[in-house]
Parts: sequence; structure tokens; C-alpha cells
Amino acid sequence: MPKNEAFVKKLFSEFYSRRKVHLERVESREFGVGNFEQKVAYRHMAFKDEEALSAYLSMEAPPYISCSSAYYKFPGARPMEKKEIIGGELVFDLDATDMDLQCQKEHGKGWVCSECLSSVKREAIKLIEDFLIPDFGFGEKDISINFSGNRGYHVRIADEIVSSLTSKQRIEISNYISGDGLSVEGFFVHARGRPLMGPKEGDYGWGGKLARRFVATLEQGVDALVSMGIERKTASILYRKKVLVEMGINTGNWDMVYIKNKVEFWNGILAAQAIRQSDRIDKNVTNDPSHLIRLPDTLHGETGLVAKRIKSLHDLSSFDPMTKALAFSAKPIRVNANVPHELSIGGSTYGPYSDKLVELPLYAAVYLMLKGMAELPE
Ligand SMILES: [Zn+2]
Repeated sequence: MPKNEAFVKKLFSEFYSRRKVHLERVESREFGVGNFEQKVAYRHMAFKDEEALSAYLSMEAPPYISCSSAYYKFPGARPMEKKEIIGGELVFDLDATDMDLQCQKEHGKGWVCSECLSSVKREAIKLIEDFLIPDFGFGEKDISINFSGNRGYHVRIADEIVSSLTSKQRIEISNYISGDGLSVEGFFVHARGRPLMGPKEGDYGWGGKLARRFVATLEQGVDALVSMGIERKTASILYRKKVLVEMGINTGNWDMVYIKNKVEFWNGILAAQAIRQSDRIDKNVTNDPSHLIRLPDTLHGETGLVAKRIKSLHDLSSFDPMTKALAFSAKPIRVNANVPHELSIGGSTYGPYSDKLVELPLYAAVYLMLKGMAELPE
């Protein structure tokens, strides 16, 4: 095993021997573990209780461990059909790489910057506050949240609440929050020579959501409208005529201010309200409960950060993984670093470095080693 991997594995093993992993219904879940090349290299594993799982983690210290959101009668059986599914949580997987962010076009998909992290956090808050609670009626206490360990969040609804959902219903939920098949023509009526009529704030579902979100953003000012995807010039006009615009929307009239290509315009705003979930075929955990997803409170082999559980929606709003999901100490260690970006971690900023021997806190050195941007000196 190369020197860097052996070094990290030892740290992972120490981390797991210091703490027990807690997980509801360990005995009914399937587990999969990964190596430094592959996130899930082996699956169909099962553990009889938390103790057995914790013992395995401190002994083997796999770079990744994932578990099923589904519960099975025989979680270790194979092929899949022999496991006999008996229930499962409903899980949403939000990842910054699915969000088409401008910063990612600049720094590439392998790197994670503070903009990536704050965007995906906003998306998670939006999923919970705008969809799961108001539209589906889930209670805050039924929803658990954890950081993914790299650049996303996992949001879960407890099994008792969703156990009766069929896979078709799960797909419908996922399509609803992704705004699949939605088009603005469904909410806006535009007859020739008549004003564009649209949803009111009190309307149920997507229409009301669009109206409320737009009015709330309008209240926040021009910058907020711009971040919603509206051109600055149009945003300024809308904001200047705020009272008129809001009065119109209250009565369903969305035509109080002239907007060129208004149907396309509002369609674009609507599209921006949808939740961008992972839709890569093999990764859609909402639709497929047999998919394996990172075990909360375990380490991520590409960062050395903890897939930390977050207590509440309120805690999520102030959660910064680069300070709160650190697994290792600040003990200084020397590495050869080749980092084309700035790294903000533990409240400080490091780099960029070009083939430079530097002394870094252990958590920063591990992060860079796992990103393939630092090595222990010869
Ligand atoms: Zn970024």
C-alpha cells in the first residue's frame, strides 16, 4: 500500500476506534464499502448490531462505507431479490455537482469551494422549507439531515412516515420537487390582448410556491432578484414598481410591468425554483431505495471529513462543513503540496501551492492528500 494511503488508513482507524457509529436498524440494512479507487467496491454486507459495525470500522477503516435506505429481511443475501425488502426511508441526495454552478466551470468538478458548499446548503434548505414541510406535510422532527462528507447533503424522512410509499409514488415525489414536466403555461393564462394571469400567493402547490418565492425575493431587493436569474435591468424595474407588481400578483395579474417575452421569462424563473437532485441513473436514491448512500457520521475517502449529522433545520443554516465536519486534529504536519486553488478549512485559508513543501494542520493535509494534491515528503 502506498505510503500516503497507509498514513490515512491509520488515521481513519484511530478515528473509528475513538467513537461508535449509531444507526437505526443496523441489522436490516445492506452495507457496501469502498477503497481509494471506488466508493462502493463490495456490497451485500450485513452487521448484526451497532457494536459489530463499529468493530468492523475500527479494524478495517474503509475509505468509504455506505448503507441502504431500504430495510430487508435478509440484507446480506444476494442477488437483490433474495433480500426481501420490508421498508425504507425516503432519501434525497443533493450534490453541488448537479447544480451547474459558475464556480465549478472555473475550478472543475473535483474541487469544492465555499460557493459550492453554500449553494448546495441553500438547495437543501429550500427542499425542506419549500417542499417537504409545506407540500408533503412532513414534520421537522421526521426529517434528518447529514453532510455528505464532500460537497452535498443527504435529507432523510424516517421509515414509519414513508414506509407505505410505493416506488411509483417515490418517483412522483422526486419528479414533483424536480419540477419535471412542469411548464409555466400550466399556471399562466395568456389570451391575446389580455393581461398575463398567473398564480396567487395562497395557491396550493407549484403555482403558489412560485408566487410566494417571487414576492419574497422582490421584497429583498435587486441583488436577490438577480441571484434568482433575472437580468439586472429588469430586476431594477421590477423593484422600483414593487408595490404595483405585488398588488398585481395578489389578484393573479402578472402583467403590471412590461416584460419582453413574458412567458419564456417566467418559465425561466419557474425552472430555477426546482430542486436539482442527483439524476445520474445509478445514483437516484429517492427513486431506488436499494441504492447505497454514505453512512452518517463516517469518513469520506476523498476529503477526510465526517458525513456529520445535523441536529435541526436551524443548525443547518449556520453549518459550515469546513469547520464543523473536521475529523482530525490541527497538529502540524509537513507535506509536498501542489494545489491550484485556495483551501479554506478550520477557519484559515491555505494555498495555492506549486510543488511546495509546507506545514499544514493535519485535517488540511489529509484533505489535500485525499484530493490527490499533497503527499508526505520522501
Ligand atoms: Zn465552487
